[in-house]
Order: sequence, then structure tokens, then C-alpha cells
Amino acid sequence: MSRTTEELLEVGDRHNTPSYAPARMILERGEGVWVWDKEGNKYLDFVAGIAVNALGHANQKLVSAIQEQAAKLMHVSNMFYSEPQVELMERLCDLSFADRTFLCNSGTEATEASIKLARRYQYKNGTPEKFEIITMNKSFHGRTYAAMSATGQPKYQKGYEPIVPGFKYADFNDLDSVRALVGPNTGAIMVEPVQGEGGVRPSAPGFLEGLREICDANGALLIFDEVQCGVGRTGSVFGYQAYGVEPDIMALAKGLGGGFPVGAMLATENAFQGFERGSHASTFGGNPLASAAANVILEEVSSPEFLTNVRDRGAQLVAGLKELASTHSVIEEVRGLGLMVGAQCEGDAAGEIYARCREEGLLINTAGGTTLRFVPPLIVTQADVSEALSRLGKALELWAARSAA
Ligand SMILES: *Cc1c(COP(=O)(O)O)cnc(C)c1O
Repeated sequence: MSRTTEELLEVGDRHNTPSYAPARMILERGEGVWVWDKEGNKYLDFVAGIAVNALGHANQKLVSAIQEQAAKLMHVSNMFYSEPQVELMERLCDLSFADRTFLCNSGTEATEASIKLARRYQYKNGTPEKFEIITMNKSFHGRTYAAMSATGQPKYQKGYEPIVPGFKYADFNDLDSVRALVGPNTGAIMVEPVQGEGGVRPSAPGFLEGLREICDANGALLIFDEVQCGVGRTGSVFGYQAYGVEPDIMALAKGLGGGFPVGAMLATENAFQGFERGSHASTFGGNPLASAAANVILEEVSSPEFLTNVRDRGAQLVAGLKELASTHSVIEEVRGLGLMVGAQCEGDAAGEIYARCREEGLLINTAGGTTLRFVPPLIVTQADVSEALSRLGKALELWAARSAA
């Protein structure tokens, strides 16, 4: 028996985790940059499952790869290799600084593995006192215990104390605040090259280089959390490539499977000395189905034309937002790299504007409470970006009219 939107929302709200507040619609299908709800309303999707659906919805190559792999071999565990898994590990290393990979299923597992590897690297090196990891304020690294403890935002830790010890928080883009925390116990520095959840903030020129130098001078490992900014999102295959600074360890997830849940930790041979047989594992990690999806994404995302589109559309989006900001003073600042773009709004306007966008058929979300976040599928066209800007313009007018009333 098919149920109405109202009925589904009512049952959903009764059984869902209360920390979410899903929109009052039931999304039913998608195609490219568009999604439709059960009532037949059509929305331009500029949130893409939170920077996940890199190729948009119902991409034929991705769908076929998943269908074919599902029919062939879905799971074998890490007691065995499968061809898609081997291919994925090779691709990840060929495309990046890394020599080795640990495959997993989500962002928090990738950052958790990064933290564990950094600690164990120092232990294996005979410097177990170097257990401290410096992370940044306004960062986001995930919801499992160590990842949550690494996250430099008290709101995510509230009520969960005691958190995992050994994390210190510096200010993003402020090397002096990092240096002030470095000491004999410093074993790693972890940073998002472009902060996502904290409000879409790219690293300032020189910041990542400075962190690299601090790490090298202190026997510490540099960890990049590219769960959000990696895999083509910022206009290069990995975010760090735009800055020319390589980490020792990197966490990936979100866009990596294009919508299929998959994560990865990448590391140099040197850093990987920290792990030996049995040190860390995952039952589902490297699953053939997830690997088949990730292989399609990496193949697409590593093409120069694809990345050029990401950079061009990002520039178009930023320029359009700046133009809107010139007539709508509620937008205070526009920031971004590639198709990871934020518009910081005055006071608590972001939440209201975001709701008006939905009324105008544009799906976006907010980051850090005050920033409108635009992380569309990476396949967006010039016309799609223009359409999004036009809908946002209407939403801003609607917001202004209602807040004046
Ligand atoms: C989303 C995110 C995570 C957590 O990923 P999950 O898949 O939700 O566990 C970690 N780090 C960053 C930078 C993220 O954006």
C-alpha cells in the first residue's frame, strides 16, 4: 500500500533519530542536478547529499557499474582481494602522494583510522610520548569518539565527556596559534585544507606550507581531512594539490563513491609503518561493490576537462554570489574553492534564507550556522549555475520582503 507524503513524514518523525530535522517532503527520484519529491515538485540540487553526489543523480556509468558488480560479487571481506578493490587502491595511490590505503565506509572511519595511524606511528618509532594531535577550531572530523574529540567545536562534544584525550585546538589559518601548542608531545597536526562544516573556509596561502614545516621540524605527521574537499570538489583531484603541499596521511569519503558509502585513508609508506598485521581493520572496507562505484568516480573526476568545469563553474558561482551580495547586504562574505562555496550571512539569516531557497525549488544547506553552503554535483553546467543564482536571488527577495513585514 502506498502512503501519502504526510503519512510518511509522520511515521518517519516517530522513528527517526531526533537530531535530524528532515525537510517536509519525500524525495523520490533524481536525474543529473535535479530531484523530484513524491508530489512531483522539482528541485535544483545544489547540496548533492552534502558534497556526495559528484556525478549527480542516476548517472548511467555509475548505475551500470553498481548493477553489474552487484550481480557478480557484492562482498568477500578482507580475507580476499577482489579486482575492483585492487584497482581502487592502485588508482588512489597513482592519483595522490600515497603509497598505501585503508579502505572503509564513511568519513568518520577514515579520520578515525588517520588518528589511530598517527598515534601508532609514534609508538612504533619509539616516541609514544608524541600522542598529541593538534586540530583546528571550527573543524569537523566526524562523529565517532576520536573523530568527535578531534573536532574543534564544543557543541559536538557536549554531554559526551570525557572525550578522548590528547587533542589540542589551534585557530585555522593562524600559524602562530599552532606554534603555541607544539611541544614534545606533539605527534600530528590534522586539518581540512578547506574547512566544510565549520563554514566553508579555504586555507590561506602559506598556511598548509607552514603546517608542513612545523611537522617536519618536530617529528610530527601532517594529516589532511579531505572527506569533503577531496575527489574533485575543489577543482583538482585532491584539495591539497591546489596548494602544492603534501600530507603524510589523508582521509577521504563523501564524494568518493558518488553516493555509494565508501571511505579511505591514504598514507605514505613511512607513515604506514605504524600499522602492522592486526593493527586496524574493517569488515566491509574495500567491498567490491563500493570499490566499483569509487573506480567510476575517480576515472571521471581525474579527467582534466572534468576538473576545468569544476573550477569554471565554481568561479561563475562565486562571481554570481558576489553580485548578489552587492545588492543584498545580508550576504557578508563569499568564500570558496572550486565547487565548495559558502556565502556567510548576517546574524541568523542563513537558516531563513535556506528555507526560502527550498520554496524557490533550490536545495542548499547551511554550514557553521551562518553560512549558506553550495556543494552541487560536479557536473553542473553554466545554465545550472545561472538557474541556481536566479532562484537564490528570488529567495533573497522573498526573505527581505518577509523580514520587512
Ligand atoms: C562529513 C565529514 C566527516 C565525517 O564523514 P561521515 O561520512 O559523516 O562520517 C569528516 N570530516 C569532514 C571534513 C567532513 O566533511
